[in-house]
Amino acid sequence: MKNNKWFKLIRKRRGAVSVIAAFSIIFILIIAAFVIDFGLSYLKTAHMQNSADSASLAAASLLPVSYNDTYGIQDVNQKALEYLEKNDITEEDYTINVQLNLGANNLYSSVTVDIDKHERLYIAPVIGVTHLDVSREATAQISPAIGIGNVVPLSITKELMDYAKATGQTQHLELKLGASDIDVLFGAFGALDLDGTAGGGSSLYSEWLENGFQGILYVGQQLPVEPGNMSNPTMAAFTERYDSCTHFPSSGGCTIDHYVETCPRVVIVPVITYIDSHEIVIEGFCAFIIEDCAGQGVNSIITGSFVRDIIVNGQGSIDDVLGGSNDFGLYAITLID
Ligand SMILES: [Zn+2]
Repeated sequence: MKNNKWFKLIRKRRGAVSVIAAFSIIFILIIAAFVIDFGLSYLKTAHMQNSADSASLAAASLLPVSYNDTYGIQDVNQKALEYLEKNDITEEDYTINVQLNLGANNLYSSVTVDIDKHERLYIAPVIGVTHLDVSREATAQISPAIGIGNVVPLSITKELMDYAKATGQTQHLELKLGASDIDVLFGAFGALDLDGTAGGGSSLYSEWLENGFQGILYVGQQLPVEPGNMSNPTMAAFTERYDSCTHFPSSGGCTIDHYVETCPRVVIVPVITYIDSHEIVIEGFCAFIIEDCAGQGVNSIITGSFVRDIIVNGQGSIDDVLGGSNDFGLYAITLID
């Protein structure tokens, strides 16, 4: 009798143990579902986000595009899809939406890339969750560059640049004037002292002309005019820079008809207004392909042709719209979302 009682108690305990074991297994499965399924999904969403970021940046680098430029719009879409494919994100497995956003002056100024996935889960179905909807998007925008490095100590006046844009006469413009030039204002030849401190002479000027100024310059910043004609240093630095082009060797290197955007012949020039004979204010930046440095001695005139739609590493403005008065065809690109 006594023995029988003990036997029943042991059996009861065994029952309780199996209930606890069953609950433990369910509990472990739930934890596993969260850790494995949701962990994997988290890694995938991070990958989706990085892919959306890089695809929108690549696609936006083809902007600006006019609202009625069908081929241009197609190219932007294609570029985004290409970048996604490089990251193994294809329309087979994901729902992809590329959208161009229209800004001012009927120009598309940003691209949104949206990636959605109805993600199948592997362990979570035991707790009744079979799928997880994940969605990631990124928007990259271009805007006129208002803060930028690698500028050369040459310049073009806003007046001349506006005229060039309005008339379409954008080739062979003077970026540094000569002594006998009728456009010389206040005895200034267009050379600028980019570090903001008057002085430093021809060696700094040569260095900036040959390799670009290492600091960042901003729209609205005032700079001293580099006094004098700087004839010999201009010629020497120009030649070094011009000759370092290694592209299109059989047709004279980069020209306005064929060029590589990163070529040393493509220079970033401040668009300026003279305050007086000693000082200018920066109104914007534009890119030129340098062509010639003529007349040593009293002249040494640098000419170049305007290159539009260049994307640079720089700070963009949210206020300056595309096609606006500060848009000189040089753009910074930013992820805004
Ligand atoms: Zn080149």
